[in-house]
Amino acid sequence: MSWETVVGLEVHVQLLTRTKMFCACSARFGDPPNTNVCPVCLGLPGALPVPNEQAVRLAVRAAYALGCAVHGRSIFARKNYFYPDLPKGYQISQFEEPLATGGALAFVSPERGEMTVRIKRLHLEEDAGKSFHDRVPGMTAVDFNRSGVPLVEIVTDPDLRSPAEARAYLTALKQVLRYVEVSDCNMEEGSLRVDANLSIRPAGASELRTRTEVKNMNSFSGVERALTAERARQIAATERGERIEQRTLLFDAASGEVRPMRSKEESHDYRYFPEPDIPPLVLSEAWLATERSALPELPAARRERFEHSFGLAGPESAVVTATAAIADYFEGFAAKAGAGSGKEAWNWVANDLLGLSGDGETIPLAVERAGEVVQLVKAGKLSRQAAKRVLPELVAASHDTALEVAERLGLLQVSDTGAIDTWVRETLAAHPAEVARYRAGEVKLMGFLVGQVMKRSQGKADPRAVNAALSAALVTTSG
Ligand SMILES: [Zn+2]
Repeated sequence: MSWETVVGLEVHVQLLTRTKMFCACSARFGDPPNTNVCPVCLGLPGALPVPNEQAVRLAVRAAYALGCAVHGRSIFARKNYFYPDLPKGYQISQFEEPLATGGALAFVSPERGEMTVRIKRLHLEEDAGKSFHDRVPGMTAVDFNRSGVPLVEIVTDPDLRSPAEARAYLTALKQVLRYVEVSDCNMEEGSLRVDANLSIRPAGASELRTRTEVKNMNSFSGVERALTAERARQIAATERGERIEQRTLLFDAASGEVRPMRSKEESHDYRYFPEPDIPPLVLSEAWLATERSALPELPAARRERFEHSFGLAGPESAVVTATAAIADYFEGFAAKAGAGSGKEAWNWVANDLLGLSGDGETIPLAVERAGEVVQLVKAGKLSRQAAKRVLPELVAASHDTALEVAERLGLLQVSDTGAIDTWVRETLAAHPAEVARYRAGEVKLMGFLVGQVMKRSQGKADPRAVNAALSAALVTTSG
């Protein structure tokens, strides 16, 4: 039987705030354990939480970027469970009346092409602390710096149909969230974590069957591998005639296996109830309208605009809109570097300048300085090939001009006609047989003769000038 995979994702994203969700402690990553804590985020009795306005603003921005309806009134709720890294015994989240619902995100599925995933809800919540099982032998240590850090949870409908598609959606989601500067989505630091629900059904069926949930994954490749493993497990079990049980699983990235979490964590009953210490979150229409209008251009709109304005194909446009910084760079370069058409500007940015980027996110060379290199090539002083060697040097030598760097590397081309004419004369004299054959009609020997002149110039002659000088010499002396 052929099976269809049904996947829905819950993504937890840390918001880019200076302080935590309900107190003034720093939300910075990497500080010494338990240094950014206070009575509120340690859950001491009597401490009162106060929502962080900037966190609300960023959550609203994320919701609008994902096409959600943002509700003027939402409710914080307590999600009750016991765990050592949760000192209050509950997490403040949103449940019945979340901040936003009903959005959608378009992305390109590797299997189905242009697709849209429905976003069921987006709500605000706080993070828990972090347990370390490997720092102190025989003991578990807890760091509460992360306790109370602001998150949004973004929940999709079960619209994804394969592990690879889940990964493509996550990539598109991360790009949107970074464009609107809601989160750095730094996965190594845990700023973006994924829970994935998966079930299978006979191909063509429409019902949803029992699903399992793989929790707390912090890499996109991990999500894809975990879902691939879980899909295979479910198909094998179903084909053996077993029932799939609803359960929570952990992915072991080292072994590539999914395994059940301990039983006490399998059946949660969170007993949500409204948070009595925080009044309903009420956002005025005017405030929401301001936030909505402040939304920057989103990746999809920018890709489309670049296709039209610069004559780029879809995949080309995607390369230079990967991050907002790269898209800004490309636009500045196309306008100021004098590269010519949009397509030529694209060639420079995609093939030469992006390679300078260590992180693939920003280009460490000012548009004006990159433009100096473009101008040297246009003037015939530098070959396109040699430009590739000048660019990284130019990044390192921040006080030198492109001309100085090219000179120092001995890469400047000679387009001085006197020198080139001499090399041409010497070449023709050295190869009389080829010259005769050329004149007898073997025109393909031009390539050989150009090569000989280039060799004589030790690669420094401008090939265009050599071509012109050779043609002229062969015509005049044959006359
Ligand atoms: Zn605190």
